[in-house]
Amino acid sequence: TVRVRGLAKAFGANQVLRNVSLEVAKGEVVVIMGPSGSGKTTFIRSLNLLEMPDRGSIEICGIELAEPATLAGVELRRKTLQIRHATAMVFQSFNLFPHMTALQNVIEGLLSVKGVAKVVARERGLALLGKVGLLEKADAYPGKLSGGQKQRVAIARALAMDPEVILFDEPTSALDPELRDDVLGVMRDLAQEGMTMLVVTHETKFAREVADRIIFMEGGHVIEDTVPEQFFGAQASERSKQFLGRLT
Ligand code: ATP
Repeated sequence: TVRVRGLAKAFGANQVLRNVSLEVAKGEVVVIMGPSGSGKTTFIRSLNLLEMPDRGSIEICGIELAEPATLAGVELRRKTLQIRHATAMVFQSFNLFPHMTALQNVIEGLLSVKGVAKVVARERGLALLGKVGLLEKADAYPGKLSGGQKQRVAIARALAMDPEVILFDEPTSALDPELRDDVLGVMRDLAQEGMTMLVVTHETKFAREVADRIIFMEGGHVIEDTVPEQFFGAQASERSKQFLGRLT
């Protein structure tokens, strides 16, 4: 379960998040949509403290961070590690290590963070590469992979850490349209397996078919929290119709 209360964040004079609250149940897939600059990326990065929110509280699977901005030193480090163990993040720009093969990228965290034995990590890494359809690319370096393949390696890497929640920040935005479907297919499989997922994306088809809920953000607020049938349906708000009209 993810529970966020009253999250606020400014960059200088730019108040990017204003009092954002949200609850996500275990196994739920929540898609976050909204216009450029509405704070979606900042919100999702705040959940694992890649951005430090100015105010608010975050709870992820029993790890409580009340007003993390007031934490310091050992306590801040301890909480940050706990929250990073519970969550995994998939970035728009993949963030793979270029000097490591696909398999090495996937098992890096298992070896360095979790201290898993190399043979065990390797076996798990190969199984995960198989799951994302890239077993035959295990020994390829990222430079030899397409964007879609890189993103699937990044998803396998996220899964390797056995997270409670996966945070996706526009995972297909950097990909050519024809490469997006493989990545979205892997995400769809994960959703069906019951993974808890928060996904910032403009992919309306994925949102419509896979999301349990749609969060619509604008101006640093959640202005709608609804089911896809409502968000994309005839009863949708004027604002969401206008937004969706511009996307397509
Ligand atoms: P997009 O769909 O374009 O990615 P978004 O809804 O994800 O937009 P954010 O990326 O969260 O929006 O950005 C919200 C605002 O915060 C923007 O005005 C952006 O310029 C600003 N911003 C984001 N990160 C930083 C940063 N590290 N320093 C300063 N300003 C930032």
